[in-house]
Amino acid sequence: MKVAIVGGGVVGLTTAVIAQNGFLRNADITVLASNYDDIVSYVAAGIFRVGASFGSYNEEKVTKKWIKDSYEFYDDIRKSDYASYAGVTDISGYIFANSSPHTVQNRWLENIVPVYRRATEEEFQLVNGNWKYGSFFSTLLTQTNLYLPWIKQKLLINGVTFEQKKLNSFKELSDKFDIIINCTGLGARKLCDDRRLVSIRGQVLKVRAPWIKTFFYGELDTYVIPGFDGMVTLGGSRNFDSENIRLCPYESAAIRERCETLVPSLKDAELLRQEVGLRPHREGSVRIGEGNIVNNGCSNKTIIVHNYGHGGYGVCMAPGTAIATVDTIMEFHKATCCKI
Ligand SMILES: Cc1cc2nc3c(=O)[nH]c(=O)nc-3n(C[C@H](O)[C@H](O)[C@H](O)COP(=O)(O)OP(=O)(O)OC[C@H]3O[C@@H](n4cnc5c(N)ncnc54)[C@H](O)[C@@H]3O)c2cc1C
Repeated sequence: MKVAIVGGGVVGLTTAVIAQNGFLRNADITVLASNYDDIVSYVAAGIFRVGASFGSYNEEKVTKKWIKDSYEFYDDIRKSDYASYAGVTDISGYIFANSSPHTVQNRWLENIVPVYRRATEEEFQLVNGNWKYGSFFSTLLTQTNLYLPWIKQKLLINGVTFEQKKLNSFKELSDKFDIIINCTGLGARKLCDDRRLVSIRGQVLKVRAPWIKTFFYGELDTYVIPGFDGMVTLGGSRNFDSENIRLCPYESAAIRERCETLVPSLKDAELLRQEVGLRPHREGSVRIGEGNIVNNGCSNKTIIVHNYGHGGYGVCMAPGTAIATVDTIMEFHKATCCKI
């Protein structure tokens, strides 16, 4: 069986690993992407924090499973002796807010992370600002500039082929592959004519501040998230429907000022780089499932299964949605007489 995974970001590569470890272990897998480097997956801080608004078509059965499967996937890596090569670690910190107590609660995380509790009076003093509400929680962090090369290496060792190519239509692959898994993020808007897919632009600063060991959120729009090697991500911004990938110096200055106000020691942090990324937000839900069959005829058809539209949560949700994608292929296999 020949399988093409289109997309070389965190969703595509994680899907390739899950496919290879599971039902598609004997398949001949090719990962194909127009770009492997200059992609939004490298912009993310990689914290496992699923927004309370994140959902799917069935919250109880589907969203909860995606989140649980994702957390367990990364937690298994965290517990392994290769965790630091793979860029996965545990992390803890605070979220503070004035707007509403709901901002510091999180219905998804509260049931899955080891600790999620109210911040104490003393803990409110850890940052600047007269915050009304606060929570402390522990979670995981996956730093993509370590995780993606690590996972790519793993795939190469296991025989996965990589190609660089921009597709204009999935039909270009239909005579070569039995299954196409679509992990093209924002690229799916054109490939699938999906108007529910919208870009949410974000800008971040990466600074060196090895003394920061804890993450801090001030509301949801200001965040300080430490990673590996003393690098700290400062954010953020969310510009709905904007596809402007140029850096805005005013926005960088505003982010820096907000973060330094929250955590004054950041004034000494050295600026490493500034980055812009477009979050592939899909209204309603990430799209998982079978799409059009490209090349009809029972004995020789190519099926497309989608896995895109993770918005601001693609790093943390990639494993769970990848498992759901591979399950969809298995179900299709069981339900048809076809050769897949
Ligand atoms: C500022 C910022 C901070 C973030 N922080 C976090 C965070 O802390 N935690 C978290 O979980 N998420 C975070 N995110 C979100 C996360 O970055 C995205 O959800 C995730 O990277 C999406 O991954 P992807 O693989 O779907 O998309 P991409 O990384 O965009 O990959 C898509 C791939 O598809 C390929 N492709 C597209 N179209 C075509 C085509 N026509 N032909 C061939 N190939 C194609 C591209 O070349 C690319 O390889 C953040 C995002 C931003 C912008």
